[in-house]
Amino acid sequence: MTFNYMNTEQLLTIDKTHIWHPYTSMTNPLTVYPVHRAEGCTIYLTNGNELTDGMSSWWAAVHGYNHPVLNKAVEEQITKMAHIMFGGLTHEPAVLLSEKLVQLTPEGLTKVFYSDSGSVAVEVAMKMALQYWSSKGEKTKAKFATIRNGYHGDTWHAMSVCDPDTGMHHIFNRSLPIHYFVPQPQIRFGEEWNCEDIRPMAELLEQKHNEIAAVILEPIVQGAGGMWFYSPQYLTELKTLCAQHNILLIADEIATGFGRSGELFACNYANITPDIMCLGKAITGGYMSFAATLTTDSIAEAISSGEAGVFMHGPTFMANPLACAVANASIDLLLQSNWQARIKNIESKLNSNLKACANMSGVADVRVLGAIGVVELKKPVNMAVIQKMFVDRGVWVRPFGKLVYLMPPFVISNEELDKLCTAVVEVIGQI
Ligand SMILES: *Cc1c(COP(=O)(O)O)cnc(C)c1O
Repeated sequence: MTFNYMNTEQLLTIDKTHIWHPYTSMTNPLTVYPVHRAEGCTIYLTNGNELTDGMSSWWAAVHGYNHPVLNKAVEEQITKMAHIMFGGLTHEPAVLLSEKLVQLTPEGLTKVFYSDSGSVAVEVAMKMALQYWSSKGEKTKAKFATIRNGYHGDTWHAMSVCDPDTGMHHIFNRSLPIHYFVPQPQIRFGEEWNCEDIRPMAELLEQKHNEIAAVILEPIVQGAGGMWFYSPQYLTELKTLCAQHNILLIADEIATGFGRSGELFACNYANITPDIMCLGKAITGGYMSFAATLTTDSIAEAISSGEAGVFMHGPTFMANPLACAVANASIDLLLQSNWQARIKNIESKLNSNLKACANMSGVADVRVLGAIGVVELKKPVNMAVIQKMFVDRGVWVRPFGKLVYLMPPFVISNEELDKLCTAVVEVIGQI
């Protein structure tokens, strides 16, 4: 049997017949656009259309696509080995990367666990917290607390701490573990702090600290659960509360890590070190799926001196050398790139250009932080309609629910950024 190179029509038919796309119906899917290649901030479709990328492939492709430096890192590594098991073996790309991560992340995060995707990094973080308390003989601390409108991934325990409504907990609630949810922080980034904001969390931790192993949340920027930016003071106070009540703090920096919020890590806005930090998405510059969970000496020591004596996790593709090599190259590239100035520039352009949406009748809110620009509408968009409007304007913008947002590669030019913003303003003005 041979599979011949196919034309676009055949490709789309087979895609529609056999392949599931993210959060999509198998019987009544939305349109998908076949991509031939991508380079810099441009996505080239098979029909010859060119789209300016406003999404960085979901927070990941911070240097744009087909980058010569990242390509070279992959090419050089692949001639040595694409993969090798991590049980009983180690290699330079993994070791170099661990040094970088320990040095760059907040002080005190010294132990690195590699895994293959963000959701798994979250599962690993939650297991670390549970195994920590179990090692300490605190068997009642088995629940997690979080804020609403969060997103932590699609696997089982990651899903259990996603927002119960947008995460559709009701569909799975007979088998999903039940955790504690408090309202999302209301004081925005940059607004004056009011301690009432953290009161529901403070009360929960006070009452249930015997049951709660850890608080998990996305620092400063809540991503896929609502694109919301909250006050760093919330995080500062939460860190203090967790310490007071003997509760661990897990910072999910999978979306925010590596500069997206304007700081290298969003925790830096609050100057805190979480007990456990999850990294993913941009860690490989968007080249492949890879993630890391970092923790402190004291947690690693407690787990290692507990009943099991080891941490009970070890994915097949742990510390994949190709991923580690491209992560090393991507982080070096980022640090050499004057990223703060680039992100400041993106932030100010998003601010000045998206402002035009603020007074439109269908718009509830416009907000910008770092290289993230969000227009929140009053009603959910019609995806089929709005997606085509963007593609027709030569941009790749993928809204969800009521949110139309831009998070372009950091290397985007001012012209490309203007094109993206103009398209957003025009499309929102017409729907
Ligand atoms: C995307 C994301 C995840 C899940 O990562 P995957 O690689 O999709 O499994 C977890 N947490 C946050 C904050 C994310 O943005």
